[in-house]
Amino acid sequence: MKPIIGVTSSETFNGSKEYCQVHIDNITAISKAGGIPMILPNVEDLSELKRLASQLDGLYLTGGEDVDPQLYNEEPIPELGIINPRRDLFEIKITQIMLEQQKPVLGVCRGCQVLNVALGGSLYQDIYSQIDGKLLKHRQSAPDGHMTHFVHVEKDSLLYRLIGLEQFKVNSRHHQAVSSVASKLKVSAVASDGIVEAIESDASNFILGVQWHPENLVVAEDAISLRIYQGFIHACQKL
Ligand code: MN
Repeated sequence: MKPIIGVTSSETFNGSKEYCQVHIDNITAISKAGGIPMILPNVEDLSELKRLASQLDGLYLTGGEDVDPQLYNEEPIPELGIINPRRDLFEIKITQIMLEQQKPVLGVCRGCQVLNVALGGSLYQDIYSQIDGKLLKHRQSAPDGHMTHFVHVEKDSLLYRLIGLEQFKVNSRHHQAVSSVASKLKVSAVASDGIVEAIESDASNFILGVQWHPENLVVAEDAISLRIYQGFIHACQKL
């Protein structure tokens, strides 16, 4: 049986209308790897989330806006982007519940950041104003599926076991990044400038956050990125 994967969603405003939406590449990547994607709206009533989580075989945290720095005990700097408190609370809570239920979690971009904050870690609100020294261009101007910078992978990691390469290129569309890593997580890949590009847990179940957008790369026919989704779906099937 194919596993059911909860896919978190963004909210957008178009005039007076408000929409709940997911970039289709996320749906394509999960489907291609053998999962059944189920879009999760950012509901305000969190009292039934355990029941919701019990219906899911895995959680996929999508990309999106910045995470509210209050959630890691910081006040906002001027370079902080748009935040959505409802989405933050929903995603953090359902992530915590899925981890309590020992279920696999994969986060991309913002999803990697949410995973870290949900477990008690912190973020750079804006890497360019908060880190001294020369950084790479992490907000690429190239098309979404174009790979622009390298990531360097720890050999003793889930990410390495999935991909089997010590370095490879990824796309990049972020200005926030993991700062202090949650105690239950470890860094499994960094960019050439030291920015954290992947975090994971040593727990036996699949818990992985990547700072790039593998969903776009899967759609661009990148076999490496597909292996991340296949590994995730495989872990969800083992429950
Ligand atoms: Mn990057």
